[in-house]
Amino acid sequence: MRHALENYGIEVNRAGYALCPFHDEKTGSLKVYPHSFYCYGCGKGGDVITLVRSLFDLSFRDALIKVNADFALGLPIDKKPTIRQRRAAQEKRRELERAQMHRQRAHIENWESYLDLVVEWELCGLYIRNYKPVPGDDTLHPWFVKALRRRDYLDYLMNSYVFYEEESA
Ligand SMILES: [Zn+2]
Repeated sequence: MRHALENYGIEVNRAGYALCPFHDEKTGSLKVYPHSFYCYGCGKGGDVITLVRSLFDLSFRDALIKVNADFALGLPIDKKPTIRQRRAAQEKRRELERAQMHRQRAHIENWESYLDLVVEWELCGLYIRNYKPVPGDDTLHPWFVKALRRRDYLDYLMNSYVFYEEESA
């Protein structure tokens, strides 16, 4: 911001203040921030584009072109994108949306299948409690054995479960 102001002949003092070009003043009340400015005198503020728009009375697009030229940023903004470039950008955006949706769905399915394991594990616990051997039994109830075995297997599945991270775009 300081660089931009000084480029247009507005001096910034050590404290980071400048004489505001948008209102008449003798002591600087325009505070310069790293990427923006704000005038405590007239309330005008913004970024480099706002500054250039206001200083030279330009549209946003023209201000962008001027900033690009004045600071040799090399942005390809003065050329209109070709239909092919626009289509490619559109396709790219759709692709990103599709990928994002796919990840979200995978994340949800992943959680649901894990919850299935949890529910089944609880169910096994129920069977184990209900069909556990009581004193005097000479054989184990088949459901008790089955539930024990199943719960062991579920333990193994849950311990080796891979959680997909839901990526934020
Ligand atoms: Zn001002």
